[in-house]
Amino acid sequence: MSPSRPPPGDRVYNLSAGPSTLPAEVLMEARDDLWSVMGSGIGVLGHSHRGEVYDGILEQTIRDWREVGGIPEEYECLFIQGGATLQMAMIPMNFLGAGGSIADYFDTGRWARDSIAEARTVGRVHVACSSANDRYARVPEESERVYTPGASYLHYCENNTVFGTHVDRPQAPPGVPIVCDASSSIFSRSLDVRQFDMIYGGAQKNLGPSGCAFVIIKRSFLDRARRDLPSMLRYDIHAQHESRYNTPNTFAVYLMGKVFRWIQSIGGLPGVHALNLAKAKVLYGYLDRSELFRPTVVNRRDRSLVNVTFRTASPETDARFCREAELAGLSGLRGHPENGGMRASMYNAFPLEGAQRLVEFMAAFEASALGRRSTRVTPWVAARPVRRS
Ligand code: PMP
Repeated sequence: MSPSRPPPGDRVYNLSAGPSTLPAEVLMEARDDLWSVMGSGIGVLGHSHRGEVYDGILEQTIRDWREVGGIPEEYECLFIQGGATLQMAMIPMNFLGAGGSIADYFDTGRWARDSIAEARTVGRVHVACSSANDRYARVPEESERVYTPGASYLHYCENNTVFGTHVDRPQAPPGVPIVCDASSSIFSRSLDVRQFDMIYGGAQKNLGPSGCAFVIIKRSFLDRARRDLPSMLRYDIHAQHESRYNTPNTFAVYLMGKVFRWIQSIGGLPGVHALNLAKAKVLYGYLDRSELFRPTVVNRRDRSLVNVTFRTASPETDARFCREAELAGLSGLRGHPENGGMRASMYNAFPLEGAQRLVEFMAAFEASALGRRSTRVTPWVAARPVRRS
């Protein structure tokens, strides 16, 4: 399998923030398996979640998940419907409770803020740090963070998808469990699972279809979860029933299994990390030199590896850029409404050629906007039919 195959003929480069690009090889295999999976004569969508074929799919998927992520046995690997947003509610419901306990949260962006709002419907929240006053264009430094010793847990969002920032694992006080929203960063770089009590996220960026959350949770943390909740909101029930207490999203589990194997085929997490670094270098490298576009995250340490946010000095130019990029086969660049400008989301399956193509297009756009002569003509552009919307 190739980590950097350009999109075949009728496809465009998909830079959306999620759902987003999935490996071409995986999609091709899934196309066949929709018709008949494992020679069963029944497509993957038609198999019972309690039948032998799905047993095999689930078992293999979990095995590959553990292998790719180096996930030790003392962690449960769960799939739960409702995406990352339901997790934002389940976490405080299970681990915060209505009593005197308190949870620490980092306020570093849109999804971190949503997590705080959800937790506040359940119990007491302490905002350990916030970059809201800087419009989330930076990550508060360790020295700005005020932790609560003995907190029920510390929650943070590793990659702020909307604002394009990355947060390193925080230095929580000893004994405080760390819960990480890794929706847009899961398996995009090397990972030491043992440093976390729980890692969760929506699958739709790096792993598979939307609507399904992946949850990696330490058993000793899970054991603290409340039991007086409705069944579908209880982590212990999902664990006991192997993520099939009710009819699960079997297709999402199947597809994530394929993506885990794809990751293995390109060198595991070190391979993926190297590829993501290469893409990020191409785009940030250009942005740091550009006279038209500027990155919205100035501090290099804070920059996301996979969501690169940038803008020009004028919203009209931004809009024109997005329109023209779309016509040139570079789709999904419009920034999130809360941040404006542009956002290039280059998740694991986005090819290096796509990043190079984007930068070539940006350079040509810049030359034309600044009245300079473009110095490069890309054969790919010349050969490619222009898409009309
Ligand atoms: N957390 C992060 C970091 C996200 O990027 C998103 C979605 N963009 C969410 C949570 C919400 O995920 P979902 O739509 O799966 O509920």
